[in-house]
Amino acid sequence: MPRGPLKYFFRLTGLLAAYVLTARLGLLMDAVGGFASLVWPPSGIALAALLIGGYRLWPAIALGAFVVNAWVGAPLGVALGIAVGNTLEACLGAYLLQRVAHFENGLDRLRDVFALVLTAFLTAVVGATIGVTSLRLGQVVSWSGYGSTWKAWWVGDALGELIVASLLLTYFSRFSVPLKRTRVLMETGVLLVLLVFLTLVIFGKIVPMDWQALPHQSYLLFPVLIWAAVRFGPRGATLGIFVASVIAVAGTTLGFGPFARPVLSESLLILQTFMCIVAITMLILGASISERKRAVKARDEFLAIASHELRTPVGALLLQVQALLRHIKKEGAPNLTRVRTGLESADRQGQRLARLVNDLLDFSSVSTSQAKLEISEVDLGALVRESVAQFQDHQLTESPGVTVRVDQPGNGFWDRHRLERVVDNLLSNALKYGRGKPISVVVGGDSTRALLTVSDRGIGIAEENHSRIFSRFERAVSGRNYGGFGLGLWIAREIVIAHGGSIRVESQLGQGAIFTVELPRARAGNAHPLENNQLPG
Ligand code: ADP
Repeated sequence: MPRGPLKYFFRLTGLLAAYVLTARLGLLMDAVGGFASLVWPPSGIALAALLIGGYRLWPAIALGAFVVNAWVGAPLGVALGIAVGNTLEACLGAYLLQRVAHFENGLDRLRDVFALVLTAFLTAVVGATIGVTSLRLGQVVSWSGYGSTWKAWWVGDALGELIVASLLLTYFSRFSVPLKRTRVLMETGVLLVLLVFLTLVIFGKIVPMDWQALPHQSYLLFPVLIWAAVRFGPRGATLGIFVASVIAVAGTTLGFGPFARPVLSESLLILQTFMCIVAITMLILGASISERKRAVKARDEFLAIASHELRTPVGALLLQVQALLRHIKKEGAPNLTRVRTGLESADRQGQRLARLVNDLLDFSSVSTSQAKLEISEVDLGALVRESVAQFQDHQLTESPGVTVRVDQPGNGFWDRHRLERVVDNLLSNALKYGRGKPISVVVGGDSTRALLTVSDRGIGIAEENHSRIFSRFERAVSGRNYGGFGLGLWIAREIVIAHGGSIRVESQLGQGAIFTVELPRARAGNAHPLENNQLPG
């Protein structure tokens, strides 16, 4: 059998087994109405599986939900209804996170945490409503039991997504904060021992404790979980929450701990509400810590790159000028060809320097949101032709051919100076990464929007980097081969978004790149102020 289908089969089987096992475990926990468990890890496993492995894993979820519900005695029609609800819940969750929220699995940005929390509670409504309605239609629950069953189902599913999905997602994504190995292992060990001990003290009866004297002992968990989140970011937070949650559920089920009540489903509801608050707090903390670490790292890298990048053209320019001066002083009648080549080279270095300084100036004005758009009527076709002509003047003889085609007269209401920066940035990238092959620029669109495409046949960009390169300081090439700040596309995107437009890239590694800018022609009534708060990174 070929590798692909076999791998797919193993993934399906693994997911099915994990789903059925954890679902059986969940249903043991005094499920309300026999089916609505307050502890429901499968919802988290399903969501994480689709986010990591893709939608094509859905059959395992549907089959798992059907098998497990039929196994515990649901009529086949009801089990089918529940399976549809659970599968839809996971697919909708994955869709909302990936397509709407542009979610990144590492949970190391605050926006990802908020997106996961919202999605978990929203999609659990779908699973709970379809599941409990199926139970009602199959006469498994009465109308009077509908509300309490729905609530338990909803809480169980949402928490499964929050606690289990977040753990799986953070551990199956790249670890962004490298730390020293042995220290990490030691500190993780100490943390885990302390966390397990404290959770056992609170939720297991390992030390005799007068619960009445310590009514809020569950808050003892906070300092240790905060430690985990602060030191290890999202991974520390999700592992800590998961460990605490498993022990707390087990202890409460056995009748121990501050949330134990005579009826288990009641105890679990109080416990899960508490765990929900703990989980959201720790996930937010973990993501904020990660964001801060990334910002500091980006600043340090930026300073290092900036000084390196600026020094190179300044050094080359000075050398060129000094050589020319020496030549003029030494020779009575200087050789004009020698002087011209020297000046051309100095001009190139000067242009490079000017571009870097422009990037820095744009960066600071865009990120401090000082700049306002100065809107006037602009002919995009003419603007592009001027930019290309200027580029060709400066690139001199070795520049590749740049063809410009204007399919649709390009008039619109835009900020001329800012648009020049967008065109310049796209053109200079096409030249820099274009391997000297011809470049084509097309202005088109229709009566309401203008389209500008810049295509090259150069090194191309791997698919996984397509969205990343539009963020600040993000680059998909090594600094050794290609100089640059990783700011040009970010600046271009800021400007385009400020005009109410969009920018995208189509490319494959080694196959060249096509950047397309779409701009509404009308005076941008819906334009956003030029600032960076609507962008990731
Ligand atoms: P810089 O060019 O200074 O690195 P940009 O923000 O302009 O910064 O580009 C970000 C990254 O996107 C580049 O480092 C490069 O990896 C990639 N990139 C941009 N344009 C192209 C292109 N035309 N072809 C291939 N890669 C590109």
